[in-house]
This record gives sequence, structure tokens and C-alpha cells, in this order.
Amino acid sequence: MKFIRKISWSLLFVFAFLATTAQQQSPGLSFNTVQDLQQFLSYSKKRIPLISAHRGGPEKGYPENALETFQHSILSQPLIIECDISLSKDSVLLLLHDNRLDRTTTGTGRIGDFTYEELKQLRLKDNNGDTTSFRIPLLDDVLKWGKGKVIFTLDVKRGVPYSKVIEAVRRCKAEACSVIITYNADQAAEVHQLAPDLMISASIQNKEDLARLNDRGVPDNRLVAFVGVSEASPGLYELLHSRGILCILGTMGNLDRQAIARGEKNYYGLIERGADILSTDRPKEAGTVLKQYRQDNQLNLPVVSNVQTEVQDTTQLKVPGRRNSAAQQKKPYVILISADGFRYDYAEKYQAAHLLNMARQGVRAESMIPSFPSVTFPNHYTIITGLYPSHHGLVNNSFYDPAKKTGYSMGNREKVRDGNWYGGTPLWVLAEQQQLLSASMFWVGSEADVKNVRPTYYYNFNDRMPVNDRIQAVKDWLMLPEAERPHLITFYLSEVDHAGHRYGPDAPETAAAVKEVDSVIYRLTEAVRETELPVNFIFVSDHGMTAVDRENPIRMPQAIDTSKFIIPSSGTTLVLHAKNKADIRPVYEALKKQEDHFKVYLKSNVPADLHYGASDDRMNRIGDILLIPDWPYVFSERKPGVGYHGFPPLQVKEMGASFIAWGPAFKSDLVIPSFENVHVFPLIADILGLKYTEVIDGKKAVLKGILK
Ligand SMILES: [Zn+2]
Repeated sequence: MKFIRKISWSLLFVFAFLATTAQQQSPGLSFNTVQDLQQFLSYSKKRIPLISAHRGGPEKGYPENALETFQHSILSQPLIIECDISLSKDSVLLLLHDNRLDRTTTGTGRIGDFTYEELKQLRLKDNNGDTTSFRIPLLDDVLKWGKGKVIFTLDVKRGVPYSKVIEAVRRCKAEACSVIITYNADQAAEVHQLAPDLMISASIQNKEDLARLNDRGVPDNRLVAFVGVSEASPGLYELLHSRGILCILGTMGNLDRQAIARGEKNYYGLIERGADILSTDRPKEAGTVLKQYRQDNQLNLPVVSNVQTEVQDTTQLKVPGRRNSAAQQKKPYVILISADGFRYDYAEKYQAAHLLNMARQGVRAESMIPSFPSVTFPNHYTIITGLYPSHHGLVNNSFYDPAKKTGYSMGNREKVRDGNWYGGTPLWVLAEQQQLLSASMFWVGSEADVKNVRPTYYYNFNDRMPVNDRIQAVKDWLMLPEAERPHLITFYLSEVDHAGHRYGPDAPETAAAVKEVDSVIYRLTEAVRETELPVNFIFVSDHGMTAVDRENPIRMPQAIDTSKFIIPSSGTTLVLHAKNKADIRPVYEALKKQEDHFKVYLKSNVPADLHYGASDDRMNRIGDILLIPDWPYVFSERKPGVGYHGFPPLQVKEMGASFIAWGPAFKSDLVIPSFENVHVFPLIADILGLKYTEVIDGKKAVLKGILK
């Protein structure tokens, strides 16, 4: 396995732990044709033993039969994924093991009593019973994902017709990665008649079982034998191997327990004595042993391709040697939470009961007005610096810097972690400079060495980190000894934004995401309550969300010769940097005549309320010409997605963000009018008694009145 480490950090900086975010190349099982799969799954002396991850290899934070779990499982080894197929009331094929929803999802009752529309609202629970953000996957999605990566053994649950499953395999062209599990000769014969090319896993525990299958017309070269959950006799292994049939041994249960008791080496013996595939609940442990076996016997996987998968670590990073000064140890605490895309009206619209309850105990704004452009990176960084985007320099999620002759993009980790892109003074920098410790469970800029200072405790962004782990990390921080305990903590949740983009602000999926965030806030406040510390919570979002006109996207106007401009951003702000300044004026004039569902500006005439004109452009990054679509239109060369944000916030009310604050510093049962998000910085500085001398855009007076 090959690791390409992409790590950038300031040389001045010493980490307690190494960052291990890595672009990992993980081995996948890839077959072009069903014949290739048949060939691979036939026995020879050079057969390659493999692991079958029972129910996909669930572990903490990763539920059984979840697509995210499969993705996680294949990072470490080439894998067969065993998964279970069930049917919704309206005959949609889904993955779920139990007949009932209760054990593995947030629902209750029989799966067959619910439509897919209803089932897709549910969240999956891991084996500890903890709710995750993952949903019951569609079989079609799973098959499409797995092609060229894994072999599936599909366990077709009672009441699900084989014909439907085979239709799905055909529809997804997944023949070369699918094996259908059967439990008796009748079932195997049925599958073989329906799909003579497909591989079948059949229960074969003695020679009579095999004879019965052959009698029913199932040939040896379509079979993989499931020999049971205890070791087969040498005679059975020998018979099956002599007929070219691979043997799956089920170690889930007894044999896995034996390996725990007697040592992992146990798995090695199972393979030596004749098993070819181990179906296990411990894919990682057993997989390590099989890897060793393959090495010892010089068995190379001929069909392995590389599946590029972004792996992110969940290691806490700590800047060593920092302590709160004695005076700072007496200060209160602030947890600043952002729920991305949590529109100003979502708490009421979707009855987020806990948040509304907290609002009654504290302060709520009718809305918080984001800065322009109303997108994620600029606004998170505005909230934490008190500066408009044009002033702090993160002028968009992606932008171009003419002086650097290169661009910044929120997807480029190297740039995201490079403090040189970030202006202003984030609150954690201000705090650390005044010997008040800070911690970040994600925030834009917190991974970067802004002014050579990072929060004392932080994580590299990893949206897959289970939310319960995030909550636990916050609690752990607050349980540290006084000198090491952070007083400013940031916390971030992305799911409402994802749902809003994908399904729109009015969709049930978005309602479910709001409810999930509401439940996270409840769990977080309950966890913090146990510390008995004076903690103030400030719940915000970066922007809102709106449905757009998907039928009439604005195409790139004719007047723009795209070879003459650098265009780092489109959608709700089309940005043009002229390669030759002489092109600016004529193109602007031409666009002005074509203004149709958009407005065109030179940076000298951008409306002042956007704070996005030439005089604001401190880092010279906003571009020479801006085209801003009239809501609800967006620039797009394809059919646009459902939900958008980024529009001028004073014109489009749905861009409005949330602000709810509660805790000992705040007045109670107070609703205040809308205010701009630049004013959060002075509020938090005030609560924590942090002094600042730099000129910022936020004014202390705006929110002063909400404090006791
Ligand atoms: Zn956002």
C-alpha cells in the first residue's frame, strides 16, 4: 500500500502529533466481465484468500449495511462485501438486515410497512446504538458504487424476489462484481435459471449438497461454497477444490471469538487447512493475517486496481506548551457552533424543539445577515474575524489572487492550511495571544497558521468524523485541568447545507437534517452541562438557502471571450479577472447591453451595501468584472442543482442565517432584529474579556444589549 503524504505546515511550528491526512491508494477488486469474475472465483493452487466483510464491516460510527461503511472498509484491503437486501412497501430494494427497523435505524416497525420516501428520512445506528448521519442505502446506489472496487455477496432477505435483485444487477451492469447468496438447492436453481451467467454462493456442507445442486442444473463453475460457521472437514475442502469451487468459511461468531481468545494467528490456520474466503465480523484483524499469508505464499492479486480514496484522520492536533494565564483561568467559556446553511427560519419552520427552547432561555435574532457573497468560507471567516470578506481576503469559496498568480479553493487542502491566504485576526488567534486557550472542532481557517498561530487544540477537517466523537472531544476539553482547558471552542456541522443543496430548503430531507442538528445541539448541551462550567453557547450559521430556477440557467454571455479572462467562480457570482486590462472596459460595455436576468459591475461601481467594491478590495482579489444573477436565476452551463446560496443578502431574504445564544452571559427570552454577522466577533471578545486594537467592521454596540 502506498501513501502519498500531502502535508503542509509552517516550519516554525511543532506539532505534538503528526498530521496524517493522506491520499491513500487502496486496492480494489476490479473485473471487466462476468467471465473474469468467474475465473477469479474458481479454485487453483494459486488461489488468493480474501476477506468477506460481514454486513460490510461495521464499527463504531459506521453502521452495518451502510455505503459509507463499505467505503471505509475498503480503505485497508481488497474486500468482498457481504450485504443484505430488503424491500420497502413500494418495492424499492434497499440494504437492511433485519425485518424490523428498530435495531439499526432511528425508525420502528417492519421495513415492509414503509415506503422508500418514508425510509429515506431515517438515520442508521451503529452497533452501539449511536445514531449516525448515514441513511439506508438503495441497492442500485451500492452496486453502482462497488463496480471496479469490490465483490458483493448479496444476501437476499425473505420475501425479496430473486428476479428483482437480478434486475437491479442487470440495470446497474454489476454482473462482474455480484455473487447471489442462496440457502438451498431450490433457490440456487432459481437464480441460475434467471441468470445463468451470475455467480452463486450456495450452502454446501457435504457432498450430497453439491450433488443436489448439480442435479438441479447448477454447474460447478458458477458456485462458491459456503461451508458453514465451523471448519469443514479436509475431505469436503478437497472435494470442492477438486471441482474448482472456492470455499467461504463463516468465522462470524465462534471462530472470530476463538481468534480473540487464542490470537489472530488462528485465521492463518483456517486458510492453511482449506478455507479460501473468511466471512468475518473482524475484517481488519483477519485481513491483516490474510495479507501476511498472501505475502508468505507470494500470492499477488492480479486483478487489483487502485481505488483512489481520500482518507482523513481524526487525530487531535495540539500545540504544545500553552497554558491559560492565571487571570484567564477565571474567564467564562464560549462554544461557537455553526450549522452550515441553517436558514434563519429553519428552527421554527421545522420545529427544532431544543433550539427553540434554548432561544427562549436566551437570545434569538430574527435573522443574522451574512456578508456578500453569502457562501461558506467567506462567512465563517467573517464571523470569526469581524471583517467583511473583501477585508479579510477570503472573498469567495474559490478566488484568484493576481499578485500570487494563483487561486485559492476550499477544496485544496494545501491552500486551506496556508495562513498566507488569510487576513484579519481570528478570535482563536486573539485569545491565544492573550494567553487564553482555544480549541476548534472545525472552523474555516482553524487548520491554517494565521499569524503563525493555530488554536491550541484542533482537528483537520473531516466531515465523516462521527458527531458523538465531536461532542465527546468538546466534553474532554472542558474536563481538562484549568490551566489547559480551552475557553473558546468552535464546532461545526455540515448536514443542513448538504440537504438544502441537494433537495432544496422545503424538502423533507432538509427537515430531517434540521432535526438531526437539533438533536446534536441537545446532546452537546447535555454533555457540557455535566461539566458544571459557566459555558455560553452561540449557535450561528453562515448563510441560508433558496430554491432556484432550474429550467432557465444563465449561460456564459457571448460577450465574454473565456480565453481572455480567468474565471475562478460562477453560479451566484461570475467573476472575471482580465488577463489584459485593456479588455475590461469593452467587455463590460458589451455585457451591460446584454444584462438579462443578471447585473454586471465593474469593481468601481459595485453597490456599496455589498462591501465588495474597489475601495474594499484590500487584497485585490474580487476581480475586474462581476456578474450577479437576479434571484432566482443562476449562472450554469448545465441544469443547476435544487438549492443555492450566494445571492446579495439584503436583496434575497432567504440568504438569512441563524443566531441563537444562551448561557450565563446572555439575557433571557429576548428576540432582536436582524443584524450583520460582522458583529459576532466583538460580542465574543466582550464575553471573554479579550482586547483588540485592530480596526474591524463589527461594532460592539450592536449586540451589547443582549448581554446581562
Ligand atoms: Zn455554507
